[in-house]
Amino acid sequence: MTTHVVLGDGPAGCAAACALRLASHDVVLAGRGRVHPPGTLELLSGRAASALVTLGLYDAVVSRALPCHMIVSRWGTASYDERPSLLEPFGHGWIVDRHWLDPLLRALARAAGAVPGSGVPTVIATGQNAAGEWRPLGPDRVTLTAVVPSREELRGHLLVESATTGWWSALDDGVRCAFSWTVPAGPGRAELIASWRRALAVGPSVLPADLDHRELTLRPSRSRLTTNLGPARVGDAALSVDPLSGHGLTLALEGAVRCLDPDHAVWLRGQAEEHADSARLTYA
Ligand SMILES: Cc1cc2nc3c(=O)[nH]c(=O)nc-3n(C[C@H](O)[C@H](O)[C@H](O)COP(=O)(O)OP(=O)(O)OC[C@H]3O[C@@H](n4cnc5c(N)ncnc54)[C@H](O)[C@@H]3O)c2cc1C
Repeated sequence: MTTHVVLGDGPAGCAAACALRLASHDVVLAGRGRVHPPGTLELLSGRAASALVTLGLYDAVVSRALPCHMIVSRWGTASYDERPSLLEPFGHGWIVDRHWLDPLLRALARAAGAVPGSGVPTVIATGQNAAGEWRPLGPDRVTLTAVVPSREELRGHLLVESATTGWWSALDDGVRCAFSWTVPAGPGRAELIASWRRALAVGPSVLPADLDHRELTLRPSRSRLTTNLGPARVGDAALSVDPLSGHGLTLALEGAVRCLDPDHAVWLRGQAEEHADSARLTYA
């Protein structure tokens, strides 16, 4: 059996390690053990269920996460649209905190037989800063997030709201509630914070009054597809999509399942086109 060295121990790298172990390969997982701050909340789409089951990760992840049962959106409309997540094509998703998700996936990869170490990588999973050549799929963005204690009225909700210069989102996992403001990348930190303050003044009515005084985290996001697909690349190191899609984690898991598939590159290109089209329509 081949020994694979997976470089990068985020969701994509851990999932790839599990997929390779399921195919009876020896796996070395080479990572930095990065832990996101508490309240780094993301939506794990219901579409991810199939990949989670295939990888043997479903029970451990889902038992820890809060189902996202309601999507509340105001996107260029006067009033809010409230949609039960059960009506989504793949059913409800889950609100996960990257603070626990990444360490959990590392532990599950280890339990599946992946060993920590280093070596010449056969699978690249180093995220959106991975070296390589890229085809842009849309503009780069930056998200500013403030975390507050869970809010009863937002528990298990995803809120998305467009504004003139960016968009708001909120996710609440029953422990914390993260309010995020996403804008096109470019301005420096001071201008981004000024943009956050201006947006706060006219933002959704659910924004807490003291949000202005909270510590902010800034996360850049890219929207692009790599053009060099060897060695195997998974997750954001292969394809990163606009955070509004809520599919980055799902693509990371689904790509990991396919990481040795000869049609992996074709699948990635198809996903890239689909996501770029959908982002163009959403932002039009
Ligand atoms: C603001 C924001 C909001 C988002 N919201 C959502 C959402 O709601 N739903 C969703 O599905 N997706 C969301 N995403 C996308 C999601 O975060 C990514 O798609 C996901 O993190 C991809 O996982 P990954 O493992 O490919 O990359 P990463 O999570 O970036 O993991 C890469 C790992 O590799 C490690 N690494 C890097 N370089 C090296 C190296 N040289 N050697 C060893 N290790 C290395 C890093 O430390 C890191 O742990 C969001 C992204 C952003 C920026």
